[in-house]
Formats: sequence, structure tokens, C-alpha cells
Amino acid sequence: MKNLVDKLYETNILSKDEFIFLLENRNDEIRNYLAEKARSVSQSHFGNKLYVRGLIEFSNYCKNNCYYCGIRRGNKNCERYRLTKDEILQCCENGYELGFRTFVLQSGEDEFYSDDDIAEIVSGIKNKFPDCAVTLSLGEKSYEAYKKFFESGADRYLLRHETADNDHYKLLHPKSLSLENRKQCLYNLKDIGYQVGTGFMVGSPFQTNEHIAGDLMFIKDLNPQMVGIGPFIPHKDTMFAAEKAGTLELTTFLVSIIRLMLPSALIPATTAVGTIDVQGREKAILSGANVLMPNLSPIKVRKKYLLYDNKICTGEEAAECKNCLQSRTMSIGYEIIVDRGDYRP
Ligand code: SAH
Repeated sequence: MKNLVDKLYETNILSKDEFIFLLENRNDEIRNYLAEKARSVSQSHFGNKLYVRGLIEFSNYCKNNCYYCGIRRGNKNCERYRLTKDEILQCCENGYELGFRTFVLQSGEDEFYSDDDIAEIVSGIKNKFPDCAVTLSLGEKSYEAYKKFFESGADRYLLRHETADNDHYKLLHPKSLSLENRKQCLYNLKDIGYQVGTGFMVGSPFQTNEHIAGDLMFIKDLNPQMVGIGPFIPHKDTMFAAEKAGTLELTTFLVSIIRLMLPSALIPATTAVGTIDVQGREKAILSGANVLMPNLSPIKVRKKYLLYDNKICTGEEAAECKNCLQSRTMSIGYEIIVDRGDYRP
């Protein structure tokens, strides 16, 4: 087992069967060994510095009906909202003062905003804050739309592939969505020149170790600059309401594996990992994560962007979240810095 971790450390990859073996046979000894190696890799690339991204959840309208997601179109209990361009700029202003130099605009797939609207929002942010990076996370769009956003100044795009297995993908999504298109979007984004992030949910319904090994192989193939993973957490108004959540243990194990695969990647300690365990984000950082994404959305809409139940930080001001994260990270010997935090190979 340790030999496999050493091999991963030295070559940045294992075969699919070796990944499956590692996942099936993991124990405390190997968990600690892997986490230590991952932590040393992330320390050698980033020291004790952590990057922050200010997350602005600007619309929870969605035309899709992903079975696991709380803001799916079919959820009649979800109270919908949209932010205007001015409200979004206001969030950025607030964030800028708090030291954020990356803004992540995330939403459901909301066709209310035309491609030109999005481009205008992006260029508005870039004009006002030329020293900041803009990341988009708006789901699947056409090549032309992605290109337009890029030309208006967007730097990065987050689009989790969710699962790299076709049959598993179909168990989590309605017929209107396909893994093939999702992957094509990711390759299009890379082709256009974005820094691209992908990822998946850990412990999603029907997920097996073989699926996870497939996710790791896909990530290696795509070679993204960012990888976001977090535990699946059930939402009460979905068909997966009674399913079990993913575990902290497997999430942090996978964060470490991904750190060894992609030594200089940007890997967030996600809100979902902080939701399943009070120390979840700290533990993800100690397993090799190096990014935090606190929420900059206005308080009035926070509780409406609920992808899953019991989401943390829905009642605090952005400044409180920033302070909270600062003291949490200091307590484990890390430091949040004011920086765009671009990918550096
Ligand atoms: N509409 C955008 C943003 C989706 S929300 C898009 O299509 O990319 C961002 C991520 O939240 C999703 O990619 C998914 O991996 C995650 N997510 C959704 N529902 C979740 C749940 N119940 N538990 C954990 N993560 C979830």
C-alpha cells in the first residue's frame, strides 16, 4: 500500500486498478501516510499560504432537474431570486475591501441572463477591479458563449464533471443532460484558454470505488488547473432525500490523492466539507487543499441558494465569514493571503 502512495507521489498517476486497490484497502496507517505526503507537496508549492475566492451566488433559477440538487427546476419549495448587475458589483466592492482578488459568479442554468448580459457583468467587474480575476460557474453553455465571456474578461471557469461514468451519470441526471456534452464543455473551455476547474461529489448515490477511480483517470486526462470535490449531502426536496451523505474520511483521502496527481493545482476546502464536519475545512487543508471560497452573496439571498441541507455560513456577513476563516486557518498554522492566486505550474 505505501508503495502505491510512493508511486503516486513520484509519477503523479496510478492505473485505474491501483486506484481501486488503494480505495478498497485504505486504513488509518495509509490515510496518515497519504495525507502527510499530500501536505508536504502542497507546502512545497504554496508554503502555508491559502488563497480565497469570494463566491457570489447570483441566481438560483435553473432550467435543469439534476436529481441531487436543491435548486433543481422541479423543486417547488425553492424560493427563487436573481441579483442585478448592480447588486453583483456591490458584492464585489464589499469583497474587494475585505481583501478578495477573485470573484466567483455561480448560478443555476438561468436563461434570463443572455450571453451579452453575462459578458456585460464580467466586463463591468473587470473594469472596476482590474487587479481581480473573475471565475464563472454557470453550467453548460455553447462554445460561442464561453468565448464571449472569455473575451469580456473572464479568467476561469468551474464545471464539475460530477461523475465520469456514463451509467452513473444517467442515475444522477435526467435524460436531457449527457456526460458527453459536459465533457465537451470542459474541453471547449480549455481550448478557449480558461483556467478550468472540474470535480465531483464524493459519496453520491450509487457511486462505487470503480467510479471514483474513473473520475481520477478523467481528471488526469483533462489536466485542469482546479479540482473541487465535496461530499454529496442530501437535500430534503429531492429524490435522494433519504440517501446517506458522503464522508469526511473519503473526501479528505481523495483531496490527498488529487494533490499528489496535480501538485500545483488549486484545490478548495469546500463549503460542503465544512457542512458535514465542523472541522471539515481544516482537515481538508491538512490533507492538501489550498483554497477557501467564502460566500459574498447578500445575506437576504443566502438561505435560498441551498444545493443541500444544513449548508453553513448562510446567516453571517461576508466580513464575519472572512474573520472566522482567518482564525480557523491560523489555528492550524496557515495564512489567508490577498492575491488573485492564479495557477502556476
Ligand atoms: N449550475 C452550475 C453550478 C452548479 S452548483 C453547474 O452546472 O455547474 C455547484 C456544484 O454543487 C455542482 O457541480 C455539484 O457538484 C454540487 N452539488 C449540487 N447538489 C449537491 C448536493 N446535494 N450535495 C453536494 N454537492 C452538491
